[in-house]
Amino acid sequence: MKKYIFTFFCFLIFGFSGFSQYTITTVPDPKLTGLGFVSNPDAILNNEEIDSLNSMIQKIEDSSKAQIAVVVLQSIGNVVPKNFATELFNYWHVGDSEKNNGLLILLVMNQHRVEFETGYGIEGILSDAACYDIQQKYMIPEFKNGNYGKGMIQGVKAVVNIFLTKAEEIKPTEEMQSNNTNNLYNNNSSSENILRYSSEKDNDILIFYITFSIFAILIFFVLLFVAILKKDFFIRYQLLRIFRLYIWFILIPIPFIGIYFWVKYLTNKWRDTPRISAKTGKIMHKLSETEDDKFLKKGEIAEEAVKSVDYDVWISGEEDDILIQKYKRWFSKYNACPKCKYKTYYKVYDKVITSATYSRSGKGERLYKCTNCGFSKKITYTIPKKTRTSSSGSGSSSWSGGSSSWSSGGSSSWGGGSSGGGGAGSSW
Ligand SMILES: [Zn+2]
Repeated sequence: MKKYIFTFFCFLIFGFSGFSQYTITTVPDPKLTGLGFVSNPDAILNNEEIDSLNSMIQKIEDSSKAQIAVVVLQSIGNVVPKNFATELFNYWHVGDSEKNNGLLILLVMNQHRVEFETGYGIEGILSDAACYDIQQKYMIPEFKNGNYGKGMIQGVKAVVNIFLTKAEEIKPTEEMQSNNTNNLYNNNSSSENILRYSSEKDNDILIFYITFSIFAILIFFVLLFVAILKKDFFIRYQLLRIFRLYIWFILIPIPFIGIYFWVKYLTNKWRDTPRISAKTGKIMHKLSETEDDKFLKKGEIAEEAVKSVDYDVWISGEEDDILIQKYKRWFSKYNACPKCKYKTYYKVYDKVITSATYSRSGKGERLYKCTNCGFSKKITYTIPKKTRTSSSGSGSSSWSGGSSSWSSGGSSSWGGGSSGGGGAGSSW
């Protein structure tokens, strides 16, 4: 019992005096204290680990002016780590001000949380999903085992390797130091990280494709089953209609090349199967395309003429015992007419009247017309002024210049970057 009380008191003392709760303004800025890129006020990382992190991050700064801040804190009180990371990023201004190529990695020990905060300029090459993947793959497993330094080094290494291959994209415009761009770390897992990373992306696509295929096949069989239960051949046809599209066997050749022809065969058969009149119970027969016109309205004949809709007319021989069934085309340039509602309305032309220049906007004209009722509509529209794709970028950079190494004090400030809240976090 005494032992527990002792432990408890140790914990209390340790908890209250050993670690402080940090706020944005009290986190020691390593750029000001000459400690490179790592803020480690609670000595959770050892010196060797800090050296290793600093030398990797320095390499990034030298080649692309991108900056990575590593912050390891025991506690930030009840503040949400993500919010803390965003605010600290913008308080320090991590990364170059022109390219916004900063990354802040925050570890909050008592909340068991790691956060990546990315500047606008690197969201393209280090997406939120990529941040999360790196955390899950290289950091969280180590953190769970209490290896905070190792996890941090592995995570930073993965980020650094991505940055090094994309150095040209994230570099501010005028600096040209191409010698470092392909200088990847080669110790054990590092350079494989990218390869492994991209092959896992491929895997994701494959898994998505397989899932999609299985789902499509499942839907097909469910619809087929439902269709066969139906007595009405017209409903059967409509249920499987979507699988008459040849897109299926382009997307999923196996097994849709078979299913496609099977569906064609079944639906064509169903379309031609003699109908039984609901009125008289007599067997009906289908009229030919020329015979059926006298039973169709003028608009329906117009639709058939432009092939936007196809009508089948069934008669039993009894007077007024007529069944008309409508089959819409999947793809047709004809749309429903705003006036007569038939699918006979189409775009006759779309032309430029005056073309746009860099100094003024242009004018275009579109004409729509209905082949059934003759309704037409002319629309004139404005073509926006042309814009030159800017490639100037000659603005003076606020970057201090010399790429002094971190051990000799490092550069004395962060680069001026800002974050809009990009990044991701993981708990362990
Ligand atoms: Zn019309």
